[in-house]
Amino acid sequence: MRAFRVRSRDDEDDALSQTSFYLEPVDGQPLAPYRAGQFLTFQFELPDAQGAVRPVTRCYSLSDRHDPQAYRITVKRIPPPRDRPDLPPGLVSNHFHDRVAPGAILQVRAPGGAFVLDDDASVPAVLIAGGVGITPLFAMARAALSAKPDRALHLFYGVRDSRELVFEADLLAMEQQHPNFHLTCVQSAPLPGEREADRYHAVGFIDVALLRRILPHGQHHFYVCGPPPMMASLVPALRDWGVAGDAVHYEAFGPASIESAEQVSATPLETPIDVHFANSARTLSWTGQDTNLLDFAERHGIAVDSGCRSGSCGTCETAVTSGDVRYAQPPSFDVARGHCLLCVGVPTRDLVLQA
Ligand SMILES: Cc1cc2nc3c(=O)[nH]c(=O)nc-3n(C[C@H](O)[C@H](O)[C@H](O)COP(=O)(O)OP(=O)(O)OC[C@H]3O[C@@H](n4cnc5c(N)ncnc54)[C@H](O)[C@@H]3O)c2cc1C
Repeated sequence: MRAFRVRSRDDEDDALSQTSFYLEPVDGQPLAPYRAGQFLTFQFELPDAQGAVRPVTRCYSLSDRHDPQAYRITVKRIPPPRDRPDLPPGLVSNHFHDRVAPGAILQVRAPGGAFVLDDDASVPAVLIAGGVGITPLFAMARAALSAKPDRALHLFYGVRDSRELVFEADLLAMEQQHPNFHLTCVQSAPLPGEREADRYHAVGFIDVALLRRILPHGQHHFYVCGPPPMMASLVPALRDWGVAGDAVHYEAFGPASIESAEQVSATPLETPIDVHFANSARTLSWTGQDTNLLDFAERHGIAVDSGCRSGSCGTCETAVTSGDVRYAQPPSFDVARGHCLLCVGVPTRDLVLQA
């Protein structure tokens, strides 16, 4: 972890729910470079709803191309779920919005993540963002337009209405300056009086029908980042449309929600698997009821550090003494030999973990 000072913050949308934070290293040394699409991991000590102070880890994508002076992240304030207004709002995002002011010091791990644009400028890239999922894709678009301005780039950006749009002025400027950059803004519930082609190009959700209508015929590489319902429908739909698996890249901002992940993991087993947590001196029976080893450990009261819960940040990386762990998809975090990620892993045979 390295200490960063917040240089400034900017509200990015009319709804005042998405705010950018510019971060400079306290030690004054150069910033670690990153590839557009990567994220930072933050560690806080915050009181939970019961008032107990505990460590919390969260990831936030770098939301612009690399700037040697400062990192930028853009955080959306997360309210309680619509059907559970009694629950506390999102812990870290609200902390950022309400308490992280210029001058604040934050503990940050170096940029990481494998959700980055390929280098093949001959194949057009299609970036598909839902809501705050724009952050890594905006960074990718900015980096690609400056490094490879001849590459065709299509950005599909879905929001509820214009109050949720971020980076709008930059996106419109990019469209004007780069004939190869094509922006399609999609709003699911546009505000009355806002004309089509003014602040949006289509009404509804981003789906394969829209992509077919807008994209030229031919091969594309797809990059998708958005809320769970969008990821859960669009990623399998791209594959059903015939897009090759290795041409579909995605990042989930929370528990992985892609259909294949659930199909592989939540399968009841005829013969349970023994999972021994050596540090806690407990052996538990894995019956296939849980989606991953992290949920399994937490359900049984075994405390494990965790962050992204989607195989990206590595906070739950745990040494495996014996046995095997399998993933529905390879995690984007580079897991050390002899270790596993609990948040996206399931056991395939009896397992001993250093947790
Ligand atoms: C690789 C990666 C990159 C990311 N990039 C970004 C980014 O660029 N910008 C961004 O804004 N976010 C990003 N995220 C998401 C971010 O990491 C956080 O997940 C997000 O900010 C929510 O965290 P929180 O602490 O505010 O919410 P949490 O405290 O985790 O709460 C999440 C939700 O759960 C609800 N909740 C609270 N208690 C309960 C309970 N007991 N039962 C059920 N629900 C409950 C809360 O009300 C809230 O709606 C990224 C995530 C990953 C993995």
